[in-house]
Amino acid sequence: MWRSRKALSLQPSRQTMNRTDLPGLYVHVPFCKTKCPYCDFYSVTDTSLVDRWCTALLQEARMYPGLGEFDSLYIGGGTPSLLDDRQMTELILALGGIFRFAPETELTVEMNPDDVTREKLGLYRSLGVNRISLGVQSFAEDEVRFLCRRHTAQQALSALEAVAGAGFREYGIDLMYGLPGQSLGAWQVTLERALSFDPDHLSCYQLTVEGNTPFAGMAKEGKLSMPDDALQAGLFVKTSECLTGAGFLHYEVSNFARGKERLARHNVKYWQHTPYLGLGPSAHSFTGRKRWWNVRDVTLYLKTIHSGHMPVEGSEELSSSQMNMEKILCGSRTLWGINVRDITPPLSEERITGLCDSGFITVEGQRIVPTLKGYLFADKLPLLIS
Ligand code: SF4
Repeated sequence: MWRSRKALSLQPSRQTMNRTDLPGLYVHVPFCKTKCPYCDFYSVTDTSLVDRWCTALLQEARMYPGLGEFDSLYIGGGTPSLLDDRQMTELILALGGIFRFAPETELTVEMNPDDVTREKLGLYRSLGVNRISLGVQSFAEDEVRFLCRRHTAQQALSALEAVAGAGFREYGIDLMYGLPGQSLGAWQVTLERALSFDPDHLSCYQLTVEGNTPFAGMAKEGKLSMPDDALQAGLFVKTSECLTGAGFLHYEVSNFARGKERLARHNVKYWQHTPYLGLGPSAHSFTGRKRWWNVRDVTLYLKTIHSGHMPVEGSEELSSSQMNMEKILCGSRTLWGINVRDITPPLSEERITGLCDSGFITVEGQRIVPTLKGYLFADKLPLLIS
């Protein structure tokens, strides 16, 4: 078990210091009322542990004294919106007392549509929450049922209406495509319905069958027939064309923002190697060179904190070549691409020219930027570039 407190430094580097390059703070709420069969995020359904988790999380937060300012707080999970009013109030107010936050900090809470009420949204606003990320996934009733979501399509629409009208600085919608039987037309309807609410941000994820999920078991038994590669590619291209056509910036493979000022600031830190601190079971942290991660199991997390130790399960110091690969991996997924001056030894010019000629990337000054075709092959592109 890693217990040192001294090795931590979440200060931004001098070159990158500006308001949005400050470190981010992530809180993992490891609870869901029910488990969705495709999801491999860590969460448990025993919500009787929420109070103890909250106490432990604040204890963990106090194990990081003297850190500098953060400019994002992202409360994700799991299902943060299942916290009751008292729990959410205590959590946000206590974190505000333990850490320092810059003015205009982005404060995001992930919500599920079945938890959305006007009262809850009012409470969140009064606590300083300025960004909501709503997990809609689909507006089609058959798709929502297939995904075993706890809400109906109608509930998703009502929740969106409430969020859109609640006066938050920003809100985003999470959607999912590539479902068995989903046509291009059905996906287009979902996208257009989302656009009709005029959101600031859209995350559109392809359904992937993750190991150790009920969907993986179904796939093994041949009970899940996923769309073929050509249809998956068609759905991806449709997403990009539809949303960029509506004025969105396709700034990461799965993420779209209504202009540069609407990027999800906290998530951008992950792709730009800005330091972040993660609290809660399974949360990861990063200093710019060193990464560490917490134990997943909530009971072990509670026990470890209770005994006065940090709940860190492991850590690694990235070597220069690992840092290179991380920059290539993240740059292959984002609009800001790879700064060739950050990569040593230099990349092969011949390879870069070949990838340009094949339409996977463009070269813009010192940057290698993925095209839409490059985004489509974002998993393979780093190997082709390096
Ligand atoms: S998708 Fe969201 S609500 Fe469903 S199990 Fe995963 S974290 Fe919980």
